[in-house]
Amino acid sequence: MAKIVCVLYEDPVDGYPTSYARDDVPEITSYPGGQTAPTPNAIDFTPGELLGSVSGELGLRPYLEGLGHTFVVINDKDGADSEFDRELVDADVVISQPFWPAYLTAERIAKAPNLKLAITAGIGSDHVDLQAAIDASLTVAEVTYSNSISVAEHVVMMILGLVRNYLPSYQWVIKGGWNIADCAARSYDLEGMTVGSVAAGRIGLAVLRRLKPFDVKLHYTDKHRLDPAIEEELGLTYHESVEDMVGICDVVTINAPLHPETEHMFNDAMFARMKRGAYLINTARGKICDRDAVVRALESGQLAGYAGDVWFPQPPPADHPWRTMPHHGMTPHISGTSLSAQARYAAGTREILECFFEGRPIRDEYLIVDNGSLAGTGAKSYTAGNATEGSDATA
Ligand code: NDP
Repeated sequence: MAKIVCVLYEDPVDGYPTSYARDDVPEITSYPGGQTAPTPNAIDFTPGELLGSVSGELGLRPYLEGLGHTFVVINDKDGADSEFDRELVDADVVISQPFWPAYLTAERIAKAPNLKLAITAGIGSDHVDLQAAIDASLTVAEVTYSNSISVAEHVVMMILGLVRNYLPSYQWVIKGGWNIADCAARSYDLEGMTVGSVAAGRIGLAVLRRLKPFDVKLHYTDKHRLDPAIEEELGLTYHESVEDMVGICDVVTINAPLHPETEHMFNDAMFARMKRGAYLINTARGKICDRDAVVRALESGQLAGYAGDVWFPQPPPADHPWRTMPHHGMTPHISGTSLSAQARYAAGTREILECFFEGRPIRDEYLIVDNGSLAGTGAKSYTAGNATEGSDATA
């Protein structure tokens, strides 16, 4: 029998919900391009429930315990004496969500001789040292597409929030004011602006599609160019490199995974190439941006605003400068964990587990590492290496 260790974020401060704001979530059965949503044999939860926190357990307990496995759900994940470190030593499977990443470093992988499978309940497996996973012949799998549209919606919200100066204006209402000039002095229309996406994968392309009706000029860069028909349909301009693209953009949105090629891609040199007063939205991974360079760019006015939901490490310390830097629209890492998204990635996690325990192949598009090398989506979108360095700062 196997031991599955599942690391989830805390329940709400007021306790696990007993009722919800809405009675249902729309059922999504397939994604743009035809990929089907997860198809587990069964689920033991009601879509729309909070599944990503410890009491939600991703809805997996009846299934796993029904098979006789040991299912351990924990929250304490950081530091050498964390519950995660203690439970990991005899774990066969680890499940973690990027929102509350259980960093699976080379040291931790070395301490887990039984470990065979690391599942990302969501998308983005950079919290696993992929080189160490390759070396240890682990399988790393994620629920590709499960929350890509959730993030794309969040990106559009954040672009509009920054450009139109939504959050500071909202604050004037809370403060009891009617300070129209204060609100308007940093408020613009998105219409006519040039928006560039770093990557046009599942999220990046969905962002571009959603922005098209705003009558903006759309640009993108990616390792692989999109089909010419899509470029024509959306009026996209392709750039060979990020450096080539950023100079003309009023808004840049980052939608690439974190891997050695993208780590600290946005640093002082990249900001110097951008238009003064550009906005940067990063819902991809915090480490794609140099933390202090972002602060400097906002303080100098080189950036007019920065928004996103991804930090490094996670959770960030209370004194992380992105909490207090000017003109930001940061949230905790939430864009991919809406209740709608949770239903899909919990079902996808169940599908991956069913495949693993029944000896069936895991869908190729879910694979990041398999059989000692990058595989599936990992082989297309990642480079091998380690992006977990510095994650011990959470302890
Ligand atoms: P996809 O794999 O569909 O797309 C990623 C794209 O990034 C691919 O088109 C890939 O290129 C491209 N890419 C990789 N490296 C580079 C590079 N160096 N320069 C330019 N483009 C590059 O993934 P998704 O769109 O679904 O997700 C993207 C990322 O967003 C995830 O990896 C994750 O980090 C983040 N994410 C964040 C969430 C949140 O809650 N904030 C939730 C979900 C995802 P190609 O494949 O053509 O080689």
